[in-house]
Amino acid sequence: MTKETRAPRFSIHTLGCKVNQYDSERIRTRLLQRGFESLGEDDNSSPDVIVVNTCSVTSESDRKGRQLIRKMIRRHPEARVMVTGCYAERKPLEIGSIEGVDEIVAIQDQDAWAARLAEELGWGCADQSHLWTPGAGIEIFQEHTRAFIKIQDGCDLKCTFCSIPASRGVARSRPVDEILDEARDMIDRGYPELVLCGICIGHYGRGLDFGLPDLILRLNALPGVKRIRVSSLEPQDVDDELLRVMADSEAACPHLHLPIQSGSNRILRRMKRPYKIESFFETIEKARRMLPDFEVSTDIMVGFPDETEDDFEQTLQAVRISRFNKVHSFPFSVRDEAPAARMTNHLPPELIKSRRIELDRVARETADVVKSSYIGRTLRVLCETRDEDRVTGYTENYLRAEFPANESVQRGGEVTVRVESVDKGRLIARPV
Ligand code: SF4
Repeated sequence: MTKETRAPRFSIHTLGCKVNQYDSERIRTRLLQRGFESLGEDDNSSPDVIVVNTCSVTSESDRKGRQLIRKMIRRHPEARVMVTGCYAERKPLEIGSIEGVDEIVAIQDQDAWAARLAEELGWGCADQSHLWTPGAGIEIFQEHTRAFIKIQDGCDLKCTFCSIPASRGVARSRPVDEILDEARDMIDRGYPELVLCGICIGHYGRGLDFGLPDLILRLNALPGVKRIRVSSLEPQDVDDELLRVMADSEAACPHLHLPIQSGSNRILRRMKRPYKIESFFETIEKARRMLPDFEVSTDIMVGFPDETEDDFEQTLQAVRISRFNKVHSFPFSVRDEAPAARMTNHLPPELIKSRRIELDRVARETADVVKSSYIGRTLRVLCETRDEDRVTGYTENYLRAEFPANESVQRGGEVTVRVESVDKGRLIARPV
């Protein structure tokens, strides 16, 4: 079959957060709606079109983005290469200077690009208006057991280390009916877990008379909903109403990812983070009182300008006190449009590296104590990966578990297991 008569093939390669992964699935849905053929990331057939969706949270993300773009161009020299995402938003000239990049598309233009591409390739029906309604969401979450539902984009906060507002714009919320339609669709397609994601989802509905707690209540009322997971949430956005709604909503998972960033109030002030460490501790203690088996994970940045040994010690202490089940550690990274780039007393890279190693060690130790407290308990696990003899997945409170496979265990299914031990940060369990 000649190239002209077969459906154009595309592949999408995504870096970064759940919002980026959601945006990539929306691009995939748009192209599939036009009859394009989707290739998996590791598919060997040659794509006609390659999409690289970039992240720019640190300079390391930028480096990985350039590396991935070059790799795709080397591997598929004939393909048309489109780059989008936060790095493309921040540094279009830098991306454009990579030989082989055909186009750079702004995040908000991703849908329009899909329509334009089909026209340029003379593929799909001329009148595309009926293919989807503006704002319509995704129809598939390729290679995922859990469906990410984007409810919000952009951010109005001004953390001094962050470039995301520059690449994602001001905070804006998706209409609730669109979210409910998408959620119903994902439930009907058999996705057992809906993960609510955005850039600053605590601001969902800000300025409207409808907030995140209301949305969770509406989602919890949907027929067939099993699990609703709130992905990352700013600590200051966790209030009594949200905790009460999570406690009353059977499908709401008792877990929150709350980026603390530092345990030192002095550094939190320099980061322009709108909370104190004491209020953070109060929030998670309240959550533990209101939500049985509540667990919390976090992001911590090490090496912020002028971070002293004492500031760092306070961060390690905060990890021990908070009993996180997971800490994602990040080295401070200069983002030239972020105020921290112009602060004095930037720390030497080797000091940042050694502090990160120490933080990861304390975080692992603390998390193992948290996980060991579940030995002997029975928990529900959503099966995500399965090979010959082992299955892995997440509990409702976001603990990774592993157990022996048996014929009744399917990917996407939920299994009750008894925890027997902890190994390499995982709960080692057995189905009961
Ligand atoms: S809350 Fe702060 S760190 Fe998060 S996206 Fe907004 S500015 Fe960046």
